Amino acid sequence: VTTCDVVVVGAGAVGAATSFRLARNGHSVELLDPDPMCGGGGATTASGAMLGVLGEVTGPDDPCLALRLAAGERYAAWLDELGEAGGAPPPLGRGTFVVASTRHAGDVTALDAIEDAAIGTGLGSERLDPADVSGLAPATGYEPARVLSLPDEGFVDARSLRAAVVDAARGVSVQVRAGRVARLLLTGERVVGVELEDKQRIMCGHVVLCVGAVAGPLLRASGLPLDMVPITLRAKGVGVVLEPAARRAPPTDYVLRTPNRAFACGLHLVPVENRAVYTGATNRVSRLDGVLGGAAAGEVAQVLTTAAAELHHQLATWHISSVRYGVRALTLDGVPVAGETLTDGLLVAGGAYRNGVLLAPLLADSIGSSLDNGTPDPRLTPHRMPPAADVDALLVAGREQLAEMLRDPLDDVAAAWVNGLLVALDRVLEDPSADAAVRLRSLLERYPRIEMVPEALVEALEDSPSGAD
Ligand SMILES: Cc1cc2nc3c(=O)[nH]c(=O)nc-3n(C[C@H](O)[C@H](O)[C@H](O)COP(=O)(O)OP(=O)(O)OC[C@H]3O[C@@H](n4cnc5c(N)ncnc54)[C@H](O)[C@@H]3O)c2cc1C
Repeated sequence: VTTCDVVVVGAGAVGAATSFRLARNGHSVELLDPDPMCGGGGATTASGAMLGVLGEVTGPDDPCLALRLAAGERYAAWLDELGEAGGAPPPLGRGTFVVASTRHAGDVTALDAIEDAAIGTGLGSERLDPADVSGLAPATGYEPARVLSLPDEGFVDARSLRAAVVDAARGVSVQVRAGRVARLLLTGERVVGVELEDKQRIMCGHVVLCVGAVAGPLLRASGLPLDMVPITLRAKGVGVVLEPAARRAPPTDYVLRTPNRAFACGLHLVPVENRAVYTGATNRVSRLDGVLGGAAAGEVAQVLTTAAAELHHQLATWHISSVRYGVRALTLDGVPVAGETLTDGLLVAGGAYRNGVLLAPLLADSIGSSLDNGTPDPRLTPHRMPPAADVDALLVAGREQLAEMLRDPLDDVAAAWVNGLLVALDRVLEDPSADAAVRLRSLLERYPRIEMVPEALVEALEDSPSGAD
């Protein structure tokens, strides 16, 4: 049996950053992950790692803009801190061009919202003539409507970053161990340690769960209610790393992206190490553990086809270096958590959805303040009211988004799937008393997010004995 002040479970960006912060603040810390050196199958290793403060804005009411702004302001200093502690942080790239396509009705509105946010936050932005953006070379018929330059927006190489944080954590005496936590140990109602799969036990004052999207099995095995950790949804994302064909230079040394769209995240090209380019990403949201599976062929095809059409047609000739997939963790209100749970001794940090690489140092700070003086960032408290559900509004918006996806039938397979969903949704809306309609409404009542509409519809129809009827 080992003892320490704090066990941090999970060495993704958030867990590694948390262990580093806590050790810096004077705690003895053990950081546990089945694959602490490479990050296993966590979201961090699959991430494109844009540090998108403004580029992630989708509308006027963005509940995470202030958090992203604070994280963006602090990022460079945090990387320096990692370097001083013995990590080798990747270079912090700067510069993002957000491209609005003529094919997507919502893109220009999203660019307006990004521009407003730039003015509101004081960060730089400039409208550019698309012809002036070198590296932007869409296919014929995909001419951009407008481009917005965000010179302050950063990006990093996610895998190098994660390795640097783990090394820096070691540098400030965090004990980094390879091991999967099988359950939390409780004395009465207080968490007092963890048990690994090999039955080793580590006793501690506090456990911080940083397991990304997979807290459910651990809570179940520990006899704790699942709502102890309000990270309720999983969002699978697939990205592809491409290497230029011989003698061709990468198209950019900055990020080229579209705004976030419909149920998806924006398409993006991010320069990564060895002159390669990360191309991402898909977004499929579900409430269920394990239904999302690995990277599907259709998802890889979707990323590559749309990126080549909208951002750079020559990508189609590049070589696939790797396919990355990970599962993002999402709360119902879209705001991450970092603080004490209602179980004594148990804290949680995560739920950062598409922004965990950017927000990691901020979540880590909140856990640090929580343990040092009981003052976590109040915006990140894990026990907060779930958002109110307006199911009718969600169904209307969901229908609009599905119809929007059909307006650019670049990908026939995806279009057939989306069209099937749209037909089924219309049938469900026509007869609100049908079993599938009742089930769909009940799911959206409990999981009131727009991204849940497709998956809730599939689930509601699957449970229906006669399919869409
Ligand atoms: C395709 C894709 C693209 C993305 N793009 C961006 C982006 O551009 N910018 C951005 O900021 N964010 C992006 N994100 C989101 C970002 O990657 C996540 O928000 C962030 O990585 C979450 O970090 P985490 O540490 O909370 O979780 P994870 O990285 O998922 O780490 C969880 C860790 O917990 C470990 N673990 C799980 N169970 C146990 C257990 N029982 N015992 C011990 N360890 C355990 C896992 O091995 C894993 O290493 C993207 C995500 C994806 C999937």
